[in-house]
Amino acid sequence: MVEELHKKLVAQEISVKELFQEYLQRIKKQDKDYGSFLYLIEDEEQINYAQKLIDEKKAHLLTGIPIAVKDNILIKDYPCTAGSKILENFIAPYDATVIKKLRELGAVFIGKTNLDEFAMGSSTENSAFKKTKNPYNPEYVPGGSSGGSAVAVAKDFAPLALGSDTGGSIRQPASFCGIVGFKPTYGLVSRYGLIAMASSLDQIGPFAKTVKDAKILFESILGPDPLDATTHKNFTFKQVQPKIIGIPKEYFQEGLDERIKNLIFERIEEIKSDFQIKEINLPMSKYALACYYLVMPAEVSANLARYDGIRYGWRKDQSSILRLYETTRGSGFGPEVKRRIFLGTFILSHGYYDAYYVRALKLRNKIKEDFKKVFKEVDFIFTPTSPTLPFKFGEKIKDPLSMYLSDLYTVGVNLAGLPALSLNIGFIEGLPVGLQIIGDHFSDLSLLDFAEILEKKWSSF
Ligand code: GLN
Repeated sequence: MVEELHKKLVAQEISVKELFQEYLQRIKKQDKDYGSFLYLIEDEEQINYAQKLIDEKKAHLLTGIPIAVKDNILIKDYPCTAGSKILENFIAPYDATVIKKLRELGAVFIGKTNLDEFAMGSSTENSAFKKTKNPYNPEYVPGGSSGGSAVAVAKDFAPLALGSDTGGSIRQPASFCGIVGFKPTYGLVSRYGLIAMASSLDQIGPFAKTVKDAKILFESILGPDPLDATTHKNFTFKQVQPKIIGIPKEYFQEGLDERIKNLIFERIEEIKSDFQIKEINLPMSKYALACYYLVMPAEVSANLARYDGIRYGWRKDQSSILRLYETTRGSGFGPEVKRRIFLGTFILSHGYYDAYYVRALKLRNKIKEDFKKVFKEVDFIFTPTSPTLPFKFGEKIKDPLSMYLSDLYTVGVNLAGLPALSLNIGFIEGLPVGLQIIGDHFSDLSLLDFAEILEKKWSSF
């Protein structure tokens, strides 16, 4: 898709402005039914710059290509809300590094997309602003937290989108919306200008209709950044030939929808002559969700301390400094965000720190070691992306623990810092199903190549 658009642009069959308008008109006509965007970016300057690059024959594959951006990634001079009332009036003072990189290539940003507040959630229902609907059935959620970006791509409101993934927020909505979502190896993409949720887990990544397009976007945003000390400076990508695929027993047990399991094994059957399939064990994976819901809120509570009514726009009762903090945070944050701040503050408090946080960190190492061991025997791992099909609005929002279970198969990957991609492998009752492909650290490019092979093999369904 991106390559075809690029060809048309450089052949001057279509101008950057015309292409942008085509997408913009589609959004204006149809997005009221889906709610994927929080606001649109109609900025002539970026369009003119892209056209200039094309006219001067300096175009990159992404020059003139519209990109939707999750509203927790800063675009200078535009609002950035993170889906929260507390940042309702916040205008980004600078570009995130990923935005800067894309801007230099002449990509054009078309709008900011809806998300769960501060990226906390699996359905986008935690957004303070609006509901985003599943592209296949408006009664169902699009997944989350990057629901807006996933729907934008699925509905052709933009050929590409950026999301962030802390525990599955790119892969799970990609699965629920029937598209490709990729979470890179931790530290490959700069987090500078991404509103932090849990810094040791957060990673920006692409959404696209095809694996090839996801790869183009990923290759354009990766690389070291002096403004993010967690980016890798010296690294080489690991070349992996896909020969042996691991199927972890623990990811196909109770809790998984039988129909999803059957579909995955049907697809595996179709490629059995090309790859060796091996049953593996990841015994620590049963603790991944518990570990995630300790490490993540601990980091959340620290990262969200900065929203105090002093530094950012939303400010309530100023009768005393304490009242200001209390009322600003009390009215600015939604219930899920508050729950996690409470939980995180508790976990980090004196007397509980060792019992919860330190033990969770030890567990995190064990989860990492599990994967490390397995990647000595297999090249890639297949798991479901989500244990269930997309669910209906309201189905899980009142029961946080059942919502957290949506992350059962995705959080381990973030704890270990690994790359993983969700690929659509078919539909059940009209709703899309994603397969998660996990690779070893730095095998990102090989993983994307492998996913492209699978995409072709399975294209017949
Ligand atoms: N659904 C997970 C959570 O609520 C993941 C969120 C994310 O990846 N940003 O924490």
